[in-house]
Amino acid sequence: MPPEEAPTRRLRRAIALGGGLLLCCAAIAAAINILLTPAMALPAVTGLLLVMVTALLLAGIAVWPRLRRAALLREAVDRTAVRYAVFARDRTLLDRSPGYDLPGIDPRPVPPGAKLDDLLAASYGREDGTAAEMAQQILEHEDDSRAEYDRSLPDGRILQVSKRRLSGGEVARFALDVTGSRARDLRARAIHESVPAGIWHLDPEGRTLAANYRLADLFGGRLPATLMESGLQQLGHPGSGPFGLQPGREVEGVLPAQDGVPERRVILVASPWLPGEGGGQTQAVLMLLDVTRLHAAQAQALHFAWHDPLTGLPNRFRFQQALAQLMTQPDGGSLLLLDLSGLRAVNDALGQVAGDAMLREAARRLRDQTRPLDQVFRLGGDEFALIATGLRTQQAAGAIASRIQRALAAPLDLGTGPNPIRANIGHAHAPEDGEDADALHRAAALALAQAKRQGNGAVVPYDPALGERVARRLALRQRLSGAVAGGEFQLAWQAQVDARNGSLRGAEALLRWPGGPGGSSVSPAEFLPEADAAGLMPAIDAWVLDEALRQKAAWMAAGEGPEIVGVNISPTTLRDPEFPARVRATLARYGVAPEALEVEIPEDVAARDLDAIAPVLHELIADGVRLSLDDFGGGRSALAHLLRLPVDQVKLDRSIVAGLPGGARERAILRAVTILAKGMEIPLLAEGVETEAQREALLEEGCVVMQGWLFGRAVSAGDLVAR
Ligand code: C2E
Ligand code: CA
Ligand code: CA
Repeated sequence: MPPEEAPTRRLRRAIALGGGLLLCCAAIAAAINILLTPAMALPAVTGLLLVMVTALLLAGIAVWPRLRRAALLREAVDRTAVRYAVFARDRTLLDRSPGYDLPGIDPRPVPPGAKLDDLLAASYGREDGTAAEMAQQILEHEDDSRAEYDRSLPDGRILQVSKRRLSGGEVARFALDVTGSRARDLRARAIHESVPAGIWHLDPEGRTLAANYRLADLFGGRLPATLMESGLQQLGHPGSGPFGLQPGREVEGVLPAQDGVPERRVILVASPWLPGEGGGQTQAVLMLLDVTRLHAAQAQALHFAWHDPLTGLPNRFRFQQALAQLMTQPDGGSLLLLDLSGLRAVNDALGQVAGDAMLREAARRLRDQTRPLDQVFRLGGDEFALIATGLRTQQAAGAIASRIQRALAAPLDLGTGPNPIRANIGHAHAPEDGEDADALHRAAALALAQAKRQGNGAVVPYDPALGERVARRLALRQRLSGAVAGGEFQLAWQAQVDARNGSLRGAEALLRWPGGPGGSSVSPAEFLPEADAAGLMPAIDAWVLDEALRQKAAWMAAGEGPEIVGVNISPTTLRDPEFPARVRATLARYGVAPEALEVEIPEDVAARDLDAIAPVLHELIADGVRLSLDDFGGGRSALAHLLRLPVDQVKLDRSIVAGLPGGARERAILRAVTILAKGMEIPLLAEGVETEAQREALLEEGCVVMQGWLFGRAVSAGDLVAR
């Protein structure tokens, strides 16, 4: 029936009810009149009215409180957020609160008596059965006395709908707008699932009540039924909180590897004990943060703080710790310091990559040679250290050192054919050679310095004399600085002659210092390295240059002496861009022509620092000064270097001459050098010629200019011209 027909039906019902009531009252009035005496009988109409009024009064008195209660209840419910509707068995809408939402129905008050199907049909039409279907949906749970569900409305609201069947078969339908609390639930759920931690609800017996997916992930996707099963046992101290964990406090734990899931490191935080939902079971929430990767990264950072990234060996910091540790050992131990030779040459000639490969291979070989108690360190550059605990004797340490030498000596091919790795080694022992870590390190360093001086893979044990030698050298340095200022140096002159006729071609100035005990002469080979270390070479070279040119001027004035004077100039000065200007000034001061000055350049310096000294050499050449390449063929560098230098003379090293005439190697070198020098039109001078046989051998190869004891030792300027 359409809603507009409802009033007609209600009118018919009212007429039927009124008629029935009237008939009842008439019957009661008639019955009263029969019981009364005729004299007391009331007129029919009056009786009927009286009965009707009485009946209405009685009915009013009986029904009024119930109506009032119902009205109050309704008002109270209307003031809550709950909206309701009551449908009769035949789906007639009996009542609903204002604003009760039914999908598709006008929210304005609807007169009771309308049928749900009709109300829906007014919105959806009857044809396609949508209205009937929706009516069915709205009431479909009517047989299920506890039906409850959420309904999402197109406008985004969420209603919690519940239906109850009433005693007369009616269906009461309640709707509560739960949009807010559902949204809160959803947010909580989203957070629960998206925090980067496992969340685990556990009962006091450690049984799993709930968890998020992350927690399951921590266990390879399978949620453990209990805390015990997870392998996370006895986390803290019993009694301090849930499972021994102090609420809110971070604790690190380990989940043991299981079911193919590797061991994980986690940070755990527990909540206090919490009441369960709706008075349910007490529970605690555990948060598990997986820090396995963080931990690994930390461990790696720590590793790099303590290890050399290139070789993976523990570094200098670790070395210092281990050395301090060694000093506390009752049995003592040994410290070996190693210095790889040739790293710089490999870096220069083959590049950094080859140098790195050499270092890595050396580190590997060293590690292979260590016993379980030994430790190898890379201290930096080409320096390594080995600490051997409990190894007391120098013999034992020496044995280790030789074993290391043997292992290192195995050929390594870095691209220029197989070559051995060489190391010089110094060693010292605790507690004999040093009572603390510093002293022991110093002792081993002294031994290493001595080994480096000896070179060629030397192994040197610490000896107190080494310390004394160092002290002596320091004292020497001090006296040398006084010598420069005090004019204690002298020049000796050694003749350079044409060996065919003995005529004087030039003379080399050689430094002399009477600084030894009792005014004895100290060899330049001994004091020059100390002077260099003390930074005295620029001053010494300047003095030599000045003194040699002064002497040349004096010879010139006397019309005697060698045509050319040779001076030795140190690498430090040869790198100084101011040097050519000083040479020009000194030449000018004494009025000496540049062609009369020959600067000797040590060949190993030329080989190593060619780029640094080349600009200075070019300037000297441009000024007309002669350059002479000293100590050539001494074994330090390749002949090819010669081609890059603008020299006027090559001085064949003493060691080659010493091997003549017998040495096949020396002869071969001599031949190669003479051919090269001839081809490049560079004159050759042989130094250190001591014997007639050497002179003949040199002349045979076409080398005519010579210097050496055969022709004269280094002597004073006066003695040189007197000869
Ligand atoms: P050097 O430049 O190679 O000088 C030649 C060295 O060989 C000199 O030693 C000389 O005395 C020595 N000698 C000469 N003939 C013979 C011989 O026939 N047989 C042997 N066995 N030796 C001979 P000295 O004077 O001790 O000089 C050593 C080194 O000291 C020099 O080697 C040079 O590198 C350096 N030096 C010497 N004087 C000076 C100087 O004034 N300035 C600089 N910067 N270095 C100098
Ligand atoms: Ca020289
Ligand atoms: Ca020389």
